[in-house]
Amino acid sequence: MINVVLRGHGFEYEVGELIKVFGLWRDIKFVDDYKIGKDGLFLINEAIDQGRKYLISTKIYENSNLVSVEEGSYKIEGNKGNIEKRKKLKRKVKASIFDALMKFSKCDIPWGILTGIRPTKIIHELLDSKYNIEEIKGILKEEYRIRDEKINLMLDIALRERKYIYPIDEELVSLYISIPFCPTRCLYCSFPSNPMKEGNKKVDEYLRSLSIEIIKMGKLLGQLGKKLESIYIGGGTPTTLSSMQLDTLINWIFEAFDISRLKEFTVEAGRPDTIDRDKLKVLKLNGVNRISINPQTMNPKTLSLIGRKHSQHDIDRAFYEAKEIGFDTINMDVIIGLPKEGIDEVRNTLQIIKGFSPENLTVHTLAIKRSSRLNQSLDDFQMAKETLAKEMLNLTKNYAYEMGLYPYYMYRQKYMVGNLENLGYCKKNHECIYNMQIMEEKQSIVALGAGGISKIVFPSDNRLERVPNVKNVDEYIKRVEEMVDRKRVELTKYTSF
Ligand code: SF4
Repeated sequence: MINVVLRGHGFEYEVGELIKVFGLWRDIKFVDDYKIGKDGLFLINEAIDQGRKYLISTKIYENSNLVSVEEGSYKIEGNKGNIEKRKKLKRKVKASIFDALMKFSKCDIPWGILTGIRPTKIIHELLDSKYNIEEIKGILKEEYRIRDEKINLMLDIALRERKYIYPIDEELVSLYISIPFCPTRCLYCSFPSNPMKEGNKKVDEYLRSLSIEIIKMGKLLGQLGKKLESIYIGGGTPTTLSSMQLDTLINWIFEAFDISRLKEFTVEAGRPDTIDRDKLKVLKLNGVNRISINPQTMNPKTLSLIGRKHSQHDIDRAFYEAKEIGFDTINMDVIIGLPKEGIDEVRNTLQIIKGFSPENLTVHTLAIKRSSRLNQSLDDFQMAKETLAKEMLNLTKNYAYEMGLYPYYMYRQKYMVGNLENLGYCKKNHECIYNMQIMEEKQSIVALGAGGISKIVFPSDNRLERVPNVKNVDEYIKRVEEMVDRKRVELTKYTSF
């Protein structure tokens, strides 16, 4: 356990998140004060306001011995309560704690003080504020303590994204539709997914409610003059629906929304055991131009361990059928850090995927989410440690480059193995617009169905409102009108939207 004393600021949450990144202590206890003579580990951080400057210090005591010190005086100007001033102070406080902890622990933390899930957003903000690349590199290194390799990755991705997300076109929005059903629940799943055995009888009722939300939201967006740039049907596993249900669902969407400027239509076909020729044909005929077929791993033992009932043969069949039917952009998801997998298992998965040469490859680093079965049974599994996870991530990078893929979007999650990142790779001109828009939050995403979280963006105010739908399928079926009203309130609150 580490005890933490903070003085002169209220960044308890942010400091807690930063300390967690070091992965050394199960418990972080915030205490009011510390006096020499107390046993245990204590971190004391203090920010003293000296007018135009702040004196910021961090001291770490282990059983009363001072084992690490960081001190500095920083110019942080602005009125009390000013958002920019608060942000700067927060960064300096985190950097002071980070440096003290680094001296003490000798950990390897490539992302520095960054604990947020969208690293590239910082680059877009700095570019929008007219900083040049060298200045941005300097800020990320000096202020955020991010290592060069990650800075280059962030820059690479952000610069690639810009032509897709700028200039911001306020007429366009993206649509997300949630189909929260799956054949079985994966060990690591934290999504609103209902195993089909239990969920089956509910699917019709669910689709009925979803149709209400689609029709009403389509009408509302039409009145506001909004058109769809991209559609993403995710979940869950949308291809648990029958071909007829998929056809009907897509037709509801087309009838309700203005698709005259639609550029991209993705359906997560996810689990290969839910994909057949009929469904693929229905998707293709309806203009779906990107699908995901997600192996996660190609190792049969791991597949069975994580609760996925498909085989490599299912992936082969689904992939080549999809290619034969004419899908130009197929994404494959893999996860590194799965239980009982080492570097050889990851290499095996990548070697097989290389044979498919998909247009998109998404590499997730396993995140142990509180609501997953994995979190409840962690002691039963041997998980990859930080160094191994890094080695695995590097291997995926090498394979991606060999397949002619480059990174085009990224995000980070809490509780990720090795505190790393998730990366989306693509072949040239196969970037997924939806993925970039959802990460950079420059375009509104209207999310329908159980667990959908809409994000309404107000670019002129540099502001964003989140409007969540209920996650539970039964609740969603009963309360669909309320879900529509929630969005209506936010969407019509400001005339600028
Ligand atoms: S396929 Fe995805 S949504 Fe379905 S159970 Fe597995 S992780 Fe969850």
